[in-house]
Amino acid sequence: MDAAMWEPEAETRPREALERETVEGMRRTLGHALTNPAWRQRLGSVESGDIHSAADWARLRFLTKDELRDAYPFGLACADAGDVWRVHMSSGTTGNPVVNPFTRADVEQWAAVMARCYTAAGVGARDVVQITPSFGLFTGGFGFHYGAERIGAMVVPIGAGRTSLQLQLMRDLGTTVLAAISTYPLRILEVAREERFDLGSLKLRVAILGSEMWSDDLRRLIERELSLTTFDIIGMTETGGPGLGIDCAAREGIHVWEDHYFCEVVDPATGRPRADGEEGELVVSTLTREGLPLIRYRTHDLTRVVSRAPCACGRTHLRLDRLHGRTDDMVIFRGVNFYPRQVESLLLKQPGVGHEYQIVLDRAPGGSDRLALLVEARDGFAEMGLPRLRSDLRQFLNLSPEITLLKEGELPRAPGKAVRVVDRR
Ligand code: ZN
Repeated sequence: MDAAMWEPEAETRPREALERETVEGMRRTLGHALTNPAWRQRLGSVESGDIHSAADWARLRFLTKDELRDAYPFGLACADAGDVWRVHMSSGTTGNPVVNPFTRADVEQWAAVMARCYTAAGVGARDVVQITPSFGLFTGGFGFHYGAERIGAMVVPIGAGRTSLQLQLMRDLGTTVLAAISTYPLRILEVAREERFDLGSLKLRVAILGSEMWSDDLRRLIERELSLTTFDIIGMTETGGPGLGIDCAAREGIHVWEDHYFCEVVDPATGRPRADGEEGELVVSTLTREGLPLIRYRTHDLTRVVSRAPCACGRTHLRLDRLHGRTDDMVIFRGVNFYPRQVESLLLKQPGVGHEYQIVLDRAPGGSDRLALLVEARDGFAEMGLPRLRSDLRQFLNLSPEITLLKEGELPRAPGKAVRVVDRR
């Protein structure tokens, strides 16, 4: 397998060496965090010299998103104001946003891991990278930008929205790589259809997508319709933006850069470790970040360790499964648990159904929970496809929602991440 790497030595380091490096990173991060009295108070009487293994690390308490919010803006930050180059923050739809202050070294680290990600996706100096996430407080735009600059690619820093213009520039500038939020390609396809834009005039060959759950079926649809290969990138504001990891050409899991991040998978209910291969909540510690070090941060993302063995691509860094969902977007309806992504997979298998959908939960006047599914479908679907959709939902997910068929374009499109579940209970 062709396996170009940005930092071949670091990316192929043998496991024992990686694990030694991890412990060094843990000690460094803990020592750095403890310079802030708020961290000292949280963690009690521990010192960096107490950490000799991952097992020692696992005795430290978890860090939650609520704690980060309560620390708004700089309560758990570990850099002096003079050393902070810039802040990024998560959208604060509920409560305070989480602020991540980046030092010069953090921006450097971000560029380095993003350069690795691009290279793993087969992107290099000859590529033209169109960056479609926003440049601003959200980490997407800048992360893609730094990485692309680092590898010497040509950058089209257009940012979010203006899809007609995106298409025109992709064609006219010969864009080969699309960097985007994972559902944005659907919007691109929609606008191309509306405008009768010739997708055959594009030179796109790679899309690097992330920031939202996207099912394997959605992945296949995007690859087929846009004639390109997709790569799944992970990372969040708290960890320092996209760049935590990416899948490689082998497509057997997402490599996490273990010299920069330490990942655990735990039982979301008890916090106890899950064996490799078992699904649980991803817990991330940073090993090289300065402004906001993370020690055992509970991400709410569900995944599993696929393998710690060397990959067909040559990299040795551990592989996680593509994210399955979030502990907090699991829907519980009359005792049945399901994830929106499972509904999405079933919908995408039905000919005549669009890719937009919404799951609406509310309470009937009698007090029982109700589940409705709004989908966009072509004419004739009610007779031809609806019975099969009902039967699939019942058979695979044990769900019998009220299904409302809408015309294509009728569901509202969110400007950022798609809204898949509306819970009015
Ligand atoms: Zn690989």
